[in-house]
Amino acid sequence: SIRRVAVIGSGLAGLTAAILLGESGHSVRVFEKSRGPGGRLAAKRVTDGSADIGAQYFTARHPGFLAFLSEKAGDTTFAPWGARLGFQSNAEGWQPFPEEPRYVGTPRMTAVTRALSAHVELEANVRIHRLQRDGERWRLEDTEGNVYRDFDRVVITAPPAQASELLHNSGMAQLAERLVPHVEGILPCWAVAAHFPSAVDFAYQGARPHSDTLFWLANNSSKPGRDGKGQWWVLHATPEWTNNHLETPVDQVSDALVAEFQALTGHQVEPIESVTHRWLYARSEATDCPGYLYDDSTGVGLAGDWLAGGRVEGAWDSARQLVECIDRD
Ligand code: FAD
Repeated sequence: SIRRVAVIGSGLAGLTAAILLGESGHSVRVFEKSRGPGGRLAAKRVTDGSADIGAQYFTARHPGFLAFLSEKAGDTTFAPWGARLGFQSNAEGWQPFPEEPRYVGTPRMTAVTRALSAHVELEANVRIHRLQRDGERWRLEDTEGNVYRDFDRVVITAPPAQASELLHNSGMAQLAERLVPHVEGILPCWAVAAHFPSAVDFAYQGARPHSDTLFWLANNSSKPGRDGKGQWWVLHATPEWTNNHLETPVDQVSDALVAEFQALTGHQVEPIESVTHRWLYARSEATDCPGYLYDDSTGVGLAGDWLAGGRVEGAWDSARQLVECIDRD
C-alpha cells in the first residue's frame, strides 16, 4: 500500500532511498540539515572550479549501481577516473594499487547527488531533532521547533553518532543500542585542498603514504572535467592525527598537511591557495554489516554506508536493501 515516508539526510543513501520509495509509489519528503544535498560526496568551491574534499572516487562492484546512476543521475554526471593509484609500505616502498574501474562525479563529486536530488522533494536547512508518535503515525520536529506530520515510515540516513542522538531524543534507546559499535567505528578526518601553481612531479595521481600524518593524497586536477590552471591536490589526515588535532586552527592544519605532502613528494613549492574541512565522521571501520536496520513495530529504518561496509557504493546498497524491506512490510 502507499505510504507517506520521511527520509532524514540527503547523502547518496537518503537520495537513493527517496528515489526508490517514490518509484514504488510512496509519497516521500527528504529533510537535510545542510544547505544542499550530497553529504560526504562533497566539493568546495575554489577560484578555478572546485575540489573534492570528501569521497575521492567510487567503485561499482554491484552491477546495479552504475545502471542506477546512469538512469537517475545521467551519464554526464560521472566518468571513469583512470588514475594510477599507489601505496607505500615500510618494507617495499611504493607499489601500485590493483587495477579496478574507479569513477568520479563530473565536473565535481556533487554532480551525481545534485542530479539525483532533482527527483525528490527536498527540504534543506532542516535538522531533525526528534521523532514523536502521533497516533499510528510519526511527526518530526526540527531544531527550530517546526513540526512535519503524518508519516507512516521514517528512514534515517545520518551517520551513526547523529542517528543515535536522534533515536535517544525520540525515546528509542533500544534501537540506538544497536548503533553503539558503529558510533565507535567511524573515524574523523581533516581534509585540505591545496593549489600548486605548477605540476607536481609524482608517480601517482592518488596515493596512501606510509605516514603518521597523511592518510591519502590525490591530484584533483587529474580527474575528468576539472579545468583550471596549475594543480589542486587533496590531502587527508590520518584518523590518529585528526583526533590529536581536532581543535587545531585550520591554518596550522593546512601547514602541517602541506609540509608532509612536500616531504613525501619532494615538491618544495608553496601552495597559492588552500581550503580546509574537518570531517568528524568520515570513514566507517565497523565490521558488523547488516546492510540496514528496520524496526517493523515502529516503521523506523536506518540506512547508510556504515551499515554496508562503508564507502559510496555501500551507501547506495544499504538504501536499496532497506527500501526492499519497507516494500515487503
Ligand atoms: P552521508 O553522505 O554522510 O549523508 C548523511 C546526510 O544526513 C548528510 O547530508 C547530513 O548532513 C544529513 N544529516 C545528518 N543528521 C541529520 C539530521 N538530524 N537532520 C537532517 N539531516 C541530517 N567512499 C568511497 O567509496 N571512496 C572514497 O574514496 C571515499 N573517501 C572518503 C573520504 C572522506 C574524507 C570522507 C569524509 C568520506 C569518504 N568516503 C569514501 C565515504 C563516502 O563519502 C561515504 O561512504 C558516503 O558518501 C556516505 O553516504 P551516506 O548517504 O551514507 O551518508
